[in-house]
Formats: sequence, structure tokens, C-alpha cells
Amino acid sequence: MAGFGLDSLVVGSAEPKKKTFLKGAQTRAWTSFIEAVTTDGRVLKPGVIFKGKDLQKQWFIDKFRRTADWYYITSPNGWTDNHIAVEWLKQVYLPQTKPADEGEARLIILDGHGSHAQPLDNGVFNSLKAYYRRELGKLVSLTDSRPVDKVNFIRCYARAREAAFTKQNIKSGWKVTGNWPISRRQAMNHPEIQEDRVAGPVDQPPERAPDDSPSTPKNSREIKDMGAGKSPTTRRLFGKAAHAFEGQQSQLAEKDATIASLQEELDRLKRGKKEKSPYAGKVMKIGAGVQASEAQALAKANGLVVVDGDCPSVGIAGGYTQGGGTSPLASKFGLAADQVLEWDNSDLYWALCGGGGGTYGVVLSMTVKLHQYQPTAGATLSFAEPLDVYWDLVRVFLMNLPTILDAGATVYFQLLPGNTFSLPQSYFLGGNGQDLEHLFQPTTQALKQSGIPYT
Ligand SMILES: Cc1cc2nc3c(=O)[nH]c(=O)nc-3n(C[C@H](O)[C@H](O)[C@H](O)COP(=O)(O)OP(=O)(O)OC[C@H]3O[C@@H](n4cnc5c(N)ncnc54)[C@H](O)[C@@H]3O)c2cc1C
Repeated sequence: MAGFGLDSLVVGSAEPKKKTFLKGAQTRAWTSFIEAVTTDGRVLKPGVIFKGKDLQKQWFIDKFRRTADWYYITSPNGWTDNHIAVEWLKQVYLPQTKPADEGEARLIILDGHGSHAQPLDNGVFNSLKAYYRRELGKLVSLTDSRPVDKVNFIRCYARAREAAFTKQNIKSGWKVTGNWPISRRQAMNHPEIQEDRVAGPVDQPPERAPDDSPSTPKNSREIKDMGAGKSPTTRRLFGKAAHAFEGQQSQLAEKDATIASLQEELDRLKRGKKEKSPYAGKVMKIGAGVQASEAQALAKANGLVVVDGDCPSVGIAGGYTQGGGTSPLASKFGLAADQVLEWDNSDLYWALCGGGGGTYGVVLSMTVKLHQYQPTAGATLSFAEPLDVYWDLVRVFLMNLPTILDAGATVYFQLLPGNTFSLPQSYFLGGNGQDLEHLFQPTTQALKQSGIPYT
């Protein structure tokens, strides 16, 4: 018995009420788990028995093992049988309970739990069920995936198991049942043992109809307890009712999770509507494949301007805006991605605003802000100077740059080999040549004072 505590279990037990069943939400087929814990709070690798033949292909089993490295097997009804019991003993129980001292013995009692309460029913399985439902709820709200497939089922169970099978829970289960440390008084007073003692053929109390129960049961354990002291057939009926109740609870938990996820979606949509309302300006809906020049021409014809880049032939709703989209108008209005009010794929809104074309999904269209068309001034500046005074001039330019950008102008410049400064483009929407001259004045003044020619 040392180191051995299966729910129900016991491998090979013929008594259906003593099996542990967890439901896979996908098929409603029963899946049996063989769980075993040791008196020092250790849990052995579980055995998982799926119903049917679909897991017989090795690749499917391998897929499970990548999720959790357990012992997987199938049987026609999803229950254990003698063959599975022996395999589990050989592959899980014996290797994992091997004593450090070869001389020590191991004793397993396979008794169908008629003689003692078992530790896993006393704490661990209750928290396991609660954690499992929570994991299932999280999964449904995160993925909306329904039905839950077997891999997800295993994943949820693994997480729940990690939370429930704590050393403390296991050891307290052993203690409550009086199995370890051994306490005869504790064991004999345990409700499950009481039930067996009074159920003899002579002293059997009169059967009580279910309506006579003192209070309405609130959980499966209370339903099961209502069978205590009754005939084996009645106890089995209460056991079945308790299982059915658990099934209903599981469905209820799933429905709760669905309602929560729908509520979240509703809130999100409501928030989305509210966020959209503050912008009341003009917009343009641009399809994939439209070139920047085509969008700009249409905007201009309506006295408006759309944020685009240097190259008129880029796909404005394609790689350009999805990549962020720098623009001569960026100092004034922001990047091209900042103009997007809506992508046709709203779930990827933030990912598409700069995540890069082709990274996340196909964009069919986007809706962007338009701005009032205004005359735009442009300027260029270049100079070359072999002496170190060149770097003093570059410094003056860089110190002055924030002022130019803050004013709403855009600047593209390069520092080329041979102490050559080149500024091929500067744009100022709504300004004129004099405005730009004024903005660049600190640099041009320094050039003049140094006697360095510039264009
Ligand atoms: C001369 C020139 C000047 C440029 N100037 C600027 C500039 O001023 N500012 C700036 O930011 N960039 C500029 N660029 C860079 C340009 O924005 C990028 O090369 C951009 O990726 C071009 O997008 P495209 O859709 O035209 O190109 P494509 O080569 O067709 O696409 C680029 C990427 O986006 C993906 N993609 C295209 N359409 C879609 C769609 N509908 N849905 C999902 N993915 C899609 C493609 O699969 C690919 O991975 C310039 C490029 C050139 C050639």
C-alpha cells in the first residue's frame, strides 16, 4: 500500500462507480485518468485512456507527448482493463516507485476501496476539478475554440494538475483518511468507511426516498453521500446521479465562459464605436493595389491631401502604410499608419499599423484621414568643406533641427564621404520659401560667417 493511492481505481477494478472520469468537451466521450500519489507527497506520471481507435497512430500519441509526457493508451470504451492495468504497472508504477534499497518491498492493494477511504478523493480531486474548469474557461474565452480538441484537453488538464497536485494537498489527503501516518481512529471515523460498516445485511437501515433528504444537495459529493447506508443498487444510482450532475456543471462552466467572452467582445465593440466618434473629418477608403499617386490625385481633386511617401508608385494600403510610412507631411500629421481609422481586418488593427506588409495578414482596404490641401514650400541645401570647421557647421544644423521639425517642416539629409553635407528635400506644408529660409537661418548664417559656399 505504501506509495500507492489511485482514485478509484485501481487498475482493473470492475466497479464503475470507483473510476475517475474527466470529460473532453469535444466529444463528450469519457476519458479515464489513472493517478497515483506517494505518502511523501509525490505524484506519479498519469495514465490517460482515450476511447476509440483514433489515437493508435503513433504521430498522434507523439503530439500528446509533446504537450505532456504521460502514458497514453486507448480502449474501446475509454475505461481501463486488465491489459492496460498491467501495462501501466510495468511502464509507470514499477519504474517510478523503485525503492532506493533493492531489498525493500512494495505492496499494492487492489481492493476496489471497499475497505478504506483513499487520499485523492479527499482534497486533491476537488481542487483538480475546480482548476480544470478554470483552465477550460480561459481556453474558451481566449480562442473561442469549440469544441475543445484532445490536445487542448490534455493541456488544460496538465495545468490544472500542476496546481492541484501539490505536496501539501497530497499529504493532507493521506492524513485525513488515516492511511498515512496510520491512524486507526481517523480511518474508522471516515464517512466512507462508516457507510460500509452500516451496510450489512442484518443492520441495514430502512431505505429512505430521495425526497426525504434533510436538505437539497449542492454538489456531486452531497448527492453521492445521500446514497450512504443504502443498498448497493441505490448507492450506484446516487453515484450515477452525481456523475450526471458533474457533467451538467461542466457544461454550465463552459456556457459561463462563453457568455463572459461574448460580453467581452460586446464591450470591445462598444469601446471601438466610442473611440471612432471623436474624428469628424474627411476620410478616404483605399483598396489594396491603389498606388499612392492615384489616391493623392483623387484627394487633390477634392481640395484635400492624403499622407503618402516619396515614391508615387508604392501600394499605399500595401507595404507603405503597413510599414509605418514616413512622409513629407509626417511632421505635421504623423506617419501614414497614424492616419488609419480602420483596416478591413479590425482584429489586427495595431499589428498592421507599422508591423510590416505581409507580416500578419492580407489587407483588402483601409480607411484613412484626409487633410486640407495647402500650398507647400520646398528647399534644398548642400555644402562641402575639407577642414574640421565642417563638423562645427553640422553641429549647428543638428542643434537647429528640432525647431524646424516642431514648426511642421520635414527634412531629409545625408552626411556623405569627403565632408559633404546634402539635404535634397525639405517640405513645409502651408508655408512659403521665406518661412523655410527663416527656419534654416542658423545654419546658413554660420556658413556665411565661415566663408563656406553653399547652394
Ligand atoms: C523609390 C521609393 C521611394 C520610397 N519612399 C518611401 C517613403 O518616402 N516613405 C516610406 O515609408 N517608404 C518609402 N519607400 C518604401 C516603400 O514604402 C516600401 O517598399 C513598401 O513596402 C512598398 O509597398 P508596396 O505594397 O508598394 O510593395 P510590395 O513590394 O508589393 O509589398 C511590400 C510588402 O508588403 C506586402 N503587401 C503588399 N500589399 C499587401 C496587402 N494588401 N496586404 C498585406 N500585405 C501586403 C507584400 O507581400 C510585401 O511583403 C519607398 C520605396 C521606393 C522604391
